[in-house]
Amino acid sequence: MHDTTPQIEMRVERFVRERVAPAVERRHVALDVTAWEVPDEPVPFAEAVAQDFTAFKPGMAWSRPWGTTWFHVTGEIPEGWGGADVALELVVDLGFSARQPGFQAEGLIYRPDGTIVKGLEPLNNAVPVGPGPVDLYIEAASNPDVGGHYFYLPTPLGDKATAGAEPIYTLRRVDLVERDLTVYGLLQDCWTLVGLMEQLEASLPRRAEILRALERMCDVVDPDRVAETAAAGREALAGVLASPAYASAHQVIAVGHAHIDSAWLWPTRETIRKCARTFSNVLALMDEYPDFVFACSSAQQYAWMKEHYPELFERIRRRVADGRFVPVGGMWVESDTNMPGGEALARQFVHGKGFFLREFGYEPGDVWLPDSFGYTAALPQIARAAGARAFLTQKISWNESNRMPHHTFWWEGIDGSRIFTHFPPADTYNSDLSGADLARAQRQYAEKGVSNVSLTPFGFGDGGGGPTREMMEAAARTRSLEGSPRVEVGTPERFFELARTTHPAPATWSGEMYLELHRGTYTSQANTKQGNRRSEHLLREAELWSATAAWRGLADYPYETLDDAWRTVLLQQFHDILPGSSIAWVHQEAERNYAAVAAALAPVIDEAQRALAGPGSAPVVFNAAPVAAAGAPALGAVAGPPPAGVAPVAAGTGWVLDNGVVRAVFDAAGLLVSFAETASGRELVAAGEAAALLQVFRDTPNQWDAWDIDAHYRHTVTELREADAVEATGDALVVRRSFHRSTFTQTFRLVEASPELEIETRVDWHEREKLLKLAFPLAVHADRASSEVQFGHVQRPTHANTSWDMARFETAAHRWVHVGEPGFGVAVANDSTYGHDITRRWAADGSTVTLVRESLLRAPRFPDPHADQGEHVLRTALRPAPTVLEALDTGYRLNLPVRAVTGGGPVAPLVTVSSPAVVVEAVKLAEDRSGDLVVRLYEARGGRARARVEVSEPVERAWTTDLLERDPADLADAAVQASAWAAGEPIEIAFRPFEIVTLRLRRA
Ligand SMILES: [Zn+2]
Repeated sequence: MHDTTPQIEMRVERFVRERVAPAVERRHVALDVTAWEVPDEPVPFAEAVAQDFTAFKPGMAWSRPWGTTWFHVTGEIPEGWGGADVALELVVDLGFSARQPGFQAEGLIYRPDGTIVKGLEPLNNAVPVGPGPVDLYIEAASNPDVGGHYFYLPTPLGDKATAGAEPIYTLRRVDLVERDLTVYGLLQDCWTLVGLMEQLEASLPRRAEILRALERMCDVVDPDRVAETAAAGREALAGVLASPAYASAHQVIAVGHAHIDSAWLWPTRETIRKCARTFSNVLALMDEYPDFVFACSSAQQYAWMKEHYPELFERIRRRVADGRFVPVGGMWVESDTNMPGGEALARQFVHGKGFFLREFGYEPGDVWLPDSFGYTAALPQIARAAGARAFLTQKISWNESNRMPHHTFWWEGIDGSRIFTHFPPADTYNSDLSGADLARAQRQYAEKGVSNVSLTPFGFGDGGGGPTREMMEAAARTRSLEGSPRVEVGTPERFFELARTTHPAPATWSGEMYLELHRGTYTSQANTKQGNRRSEHLLREAELWSATAAWRGLADYPYETLDDAWRTVLLQQFHDILPGSSIAWVHQEAERNYAAVAAALAPVIDEAQRALAGPGSAPVVFNAAPVAAAGAPALGAVAGPPPAGVAPVAAGTGWVLDNGVVRAVFDAAGLLVSFAETASGRELVAAGEAAALLQVFRDTPNQWDAWDIDAHYRHTVTELREADAVEATGDALVVRRSFHRSTFTQTFRLVEASPELEIETRVDWHEREKLLKLAFPLAVHADRASSEVQFGHVQRPTHANTSWDMARFETAAHRWVHVGEPGFGVAVANDSTYGHDITRRWAADGSTVTLVRESLLRAPRFPDPHADQGEHVLRTALRPAPTVLEALDTGYRLNLPVRAVTGGGPVAPLVTVSSPAVVVEAVKLAEDRSGDLVVRLYEARGGRARARVEVSEPVERAWTTDLLERDPADLADAAVQASAWAAGEPIEIAFRPFEIVTLRLRRA
C-alpha cells in the first residue's frame, strides 16, 4: 500500500481546526454592555455595582495596567434558542492574547445578588446562562503581561507607578452563544486521538488505525453541515476510542490543580482575586463533572477567601467535606525552603496545618512544593515531625546538568528521617492532560519495572486558572485507551497509597535536593532577605521574653501580635518573594511588611524586658541567643554594660586590632592581611592573600535574570584593593572604597575578650548586572565545608570531582559556614546573607587555600529593573572555630545582638540546657493558648547528646510533642518519640544526631 500518512495527518489537522472547531458555536448574538472603570485599587462588589455604568461595546479599550473595569452584561435569550443538544453560554473575550491564562487579562463573573458564578480566563471564557434573561457583572482585571515572551527584558510594568496610564486591552466580544454539544464532543475526541497518535511509534499498527479512523471522520463529516453530521464523525471514531489500554500501560493519577503563585509577576492583592477566579472555576467544574477532584495548597490562600469572599469560602468548605476540594501541603504558603530559618519552616506547618484543622477538621498528609527552588536537607525531619508522610515536587527536573535518578523514592534528611517522595515524571505542575504530557510521564518514569504509577497535576497555573472542562474530557477519554497511559482522576492521597503499596522498597536519595538553576535566588533583593532574617530573630526575641515574663506572672502573652507577625513573615517566604524573583511592587510591599513587623515587635520585646528587669536604674543586658553573649547567660540578662571595643593601633603603614585573644593586621589599603589566634599562633588568612576582600563580578545570566547566577560570572572579576580612605574612629577601623558609581565602607571591630572580628559592609550600590562578593581566602585545608541549614548543617565538597559537585557552585547557608582541619577551623558568620561559594585553590608554596565567599548583592534587571539599588548594611564575623559549635555561637550572637534596658537587675533564664550541643531554637507559649510553655531544641553537632533541661518555674508535667504541639500518644502515625516527666523529675532527653525535640511544659 502506498504510504499517505503525512497527507492524511495534514488533512485531519486542517479539517479539525477550520471545520470542526468553528462549528462548536452554532449561533451567537451580542449582548448589551455597560461599564465602570475603578479609579484606583479594586473595590468590593457592592461598591462597584452602585456606581454609574456607561454604555460600552466591543472594540472599545478598557483599563490601564493593573486597573479594573466592571462590565454589566444584560440581554434576552432569543426565541427558539436552546434545546437538548446545545448549551446556552455567555462567551466573553476581554482582549485575550495568545499567552497562557493567568499572565494577562482575567475576570470574575457575579450574579446581581453578589454571588460568584465563575472566573473568566483565556481558554475558559464561557459561563452557562438561562433560563431567563442574562444579567451578570464581570470584574475585569487588566493585568499586564510582565514577562512577555522573554522573561529577561527590563520592563516598567511591574510597578504601578511606572506601568503607564493608557488602556492595554480591547474588549472583543460579549456574546450569547449556542454551543453544539455533539460537535464539541467530536472536537474533544479528535484532540485526544491526534495527541495520542503523535506520541505513538510510526511502526505501531495502533498509530495507523487511529489515523485511518480520523480520515474516515473527515469523510463522513460534511464541512458544510458539521452540526448535522458530527454524530457520524463521532461514530467513525468510536471504535478506536473504545479500544482498551495495554495491560502494562502506565497508570496516571491525574490531580486537578492550579499553581497560584502568592505573588510573582503580580502583587498579593491580585493573587487574592486570582484565587477567587480559580476556585470559583473549580467549584463550577465540580458541579459539571462528579469525579473531578482538586488539590489546593497554601492555607494563606484559603484564609484570603475566608476574609474577602466568605460566600465562596463556604462553598469550598462544603467541597472539602465531600473530599473533592483537597487541602494539600499543610504549609502556610508554598515557601522557599533554602532560606527560611528552622523555626520559620516549622511554623509554615504549624500555621498551615493549624488553619486546615481549625477550619475543615482536616489534616493534609503530604508536603506539596512543586515549584520551590531546591529543597533543604532539613525538610524530611520537619515534615515528618509536622505529621506529613509524603513529599511532592517536580522542580528538580529543571536541573541544568544532572538528572535525578528517581521519581518515586525515599528522601532522607540530615538526621536520617525519611519521607516518601514523588516527582511527577510529566515534569510539569500545569498539565493539560495532552497526549504529549501523558506520554512523557510514561516514557520518563524512572521506576519502570518495579512501579508503574505516577501523579500528574493538571490545570492552568502559575497565575491560576486551573482545570478546564476540556481537561476533564481528555481524562474521560484516556481512562482506558489503547496506547495511552491509563488516567484516573484522583486525590494525592489515592496516588501515595497506590505508590506505596505497589512499590514497597523504593531507593533512597540522601541529603539536600539542590536545584541546579536559580542560584541567584539566595542573593537577589537583599532588602527582602534582610527583612526575613531580622524578622525571624525579632520573633524569637519577642516570644522568648514574652513567654519568660508570662510564666513569671509579669505580663500577658501577646498572642495576636505574634500570630499576625508570624503570618506576615511566613507569607513573604513564598517561593517568589524571599527568593527575590518578583516584580518591584511585591518587593516594595515586602519591605513595608518587614518594617511593620519590626514596629509591632519592638514594643513587645521592650515591654517584656522591662517587666523582667523590674524597676531600677542599672543597665541590664538581655541575651536572646542560646549561647552566652556579652557576659549575659543564654536566654537571660546580666546587670552591667556590654563589653567595650578595642581601639585600632597604627603599625608600620597599616593598622592592628588586638584584644589579646586574636590579632588582626591591616595594610595601608585597609586590607586584612593577617588574622591570628594569639594562644595557638595559628593564622587564618592564607599567606600573601587579603581577607574581607570585596569582589565585583559581571553577572549576566543566560536566561532568568533575578533567578540565576551562571558559572561564567567567575570569568571577570574586579577586586577592590584600593582604599579611598583608611581611618581609626573610636574602637573601629573604617575603610572607604569605591567602584564605578558605588561606594563601600568597611568597618572592622574587635570587642574585649572575644575572638570575633566584626566586619560591617555598608554599600551604596548603583550597579546593574553585577555581583558583589566578600572573599575570605583561608589557610585551611578542607575538602568539605559545613553550612548552617534549619536545625543543623550540611556538608558540601569544596572540590568539583563530579558533575553534581561542579553544578553546586553557589550554595545557600544560614547564619554561618565553617571550614576546618582536625582541631582547627574558621567560621564566617553573617547577619543577612544566604548565597555563598566555598572552593579551594593552591598557594605558591603548594598548600591549599580554602576560599569562602559571601554573595552580598546583585543587581538583576528583570523582573524588577531597580533591584538592589541603594544603601545596604551587611554584617559578617570572622573567627577561629575549632568545631561547628563555635561557628554556631557566633552565628546566633551576630543575628541576636544583646539589648540593654534600664532596670533593677539580672534576669535568670527561664530555660537552661546542660549540653552545649543541644540548642534552644524557640521558647514560646502553646498555640492553643492554654498557657503551656513550648521549648524547641535540637542537636546541633550532628552527633548523639544527652541534655538536662531545667525550667526556673515550677512544672506540673512535661512531655514531648510533634511540631504542632500534640502528644504523639494521641496520633495514629507519629514520627516523634513520646516521653513525659512528672513534677520534680529531672527532664533528661537523649538526642539523635540533629534531632529536633519539641518539649511542652505545664506550669504547676
Ligand atoms: Zn511558583
